[in-house]
Amino acid sequence: SYILAIESSCDDTACAVLKNDEVLSNVVAGQEIHEKYGGVVPELASRAHQSHIVPVVDQALKEAGIKKEELSAISFTRGPGLMGSLLVGTSFAKSLALALDIPLIDVHHMHGHILAHFIDSNDQPKPEFPFLAVTISGGHTQIVKVTDFHEMEVIGTTQDDAIGEAFDKSGKILGLGYPAGPQIDKLAKSGDPLKFPFPVPKAPELNYSFSGFKTAVLYFIQREVKKQPDFIEKNLNDICASIQHTLIKILFQKIEKAILQTGIKTVAIGGGVSANSGIRSKLHSYKNHGWSVFIPPFEYTTDNAAMIGISAYYKFKAGYSVGMETTAAPRIQM
Ligand code: ATP
Ligand code: FE
Repeated sequence: SYILAIESSCDDTACAVLKNDEVLSNVVAGQEIHEKYGGVVPELASRAHQSHIVPVVDQALKEAGIKKEELSAISFTRGPGLMGSLLVGTSFAKSLALALDIPLIDVHHMHGHILAHFIDSNDQPKPEFPFLAVTISGGHTQIVKVTDFHEMEVIGTTQDDAIGEAFDKSGKILGLGYPAGPQIDKLAKSGDPLKFPFPVPKAPELNYSFSGFKTAVLYFIQREVKKQPDFIEKNLNDICASIQHTLIKILFQKIEKAILQTGIKTVAIGGGVSANSGIRSKLHSYKNHGWSVFIPPFEYTTDNAAMIGISAYYKFKAGYSVGMETTAAPRIQM
């Protein structure tokens, strides 16, 4: 089967074409416009999606070498995300499915981040069920027990900020541009992770909390800058390394706990923050503890449509589709 997938939940307009579980094309158009505002501006995001969607879909079909008429189904991200952004992808997908008279398949954005591991890439091994998916992104920080392609249970989640926000907001305090996560990652490489000890916030059970961390970084920086105005410039690498080190510590504490509680030792990370090199190498190191670990290829970590396509493929195989009455769902639960 050939499935076309559209992802437009936040600020990236993305389209992919899959042949079964193989990705033929994976096109992403970002939106630089938000950089100068230090975050995504919803109104500007939906407008940019409007102008990107047609060329992005055309490009994906062209790169795949597929004509619209050859497609077997159209899939799209139904939610969660920004209403105005989701509407663009949802409406476009519906019109396309209607015009081509082929099945329409909705996908949960976070299922996409999780099922990205099942994209066929260079015969890499795929996680076996059941496994623990740890979704770390700009809007989520969750530990999910995955028993099947369509059966997922959230067993831990953040009570406030997502880990991606912790990276981005800390970076903003340091004067780094948006999104700051990738820059902190880069700067941390030549810094001392133990130079500045930041607190590890408490949260019950398998849940997370990051808002206290961000505040601690803010107060610490304000205090030090008062004493020494060029504190940030002088210590940027060490500050970034220390921030990253603490966020990794917070993240893995609860993953370890989840493994003890469930007895499941297969861990697959997903979402934009799983691009982080510190998190990737830390996860690798746990192989020595008998964990099976899975890290998605770099291009499938941040928002992309291939992950929506692979999720749709498994729904398509199960004979699932939705009707034209389907609407965008900004706050849909897992
Ligand atoms: P969600 O998937 O929860 O709806 P989103 O789609 O906005 O949120 P993603 O695109 O999956 O989020 O991830 C974006 C986040 O990933 C940003 O917070 C960004 O800073 C972070 N990020 C990307 N690369 C890195 C990196 N190398 N290190 C740390 N964080 C990173
Ligand atoms: Fe995402």
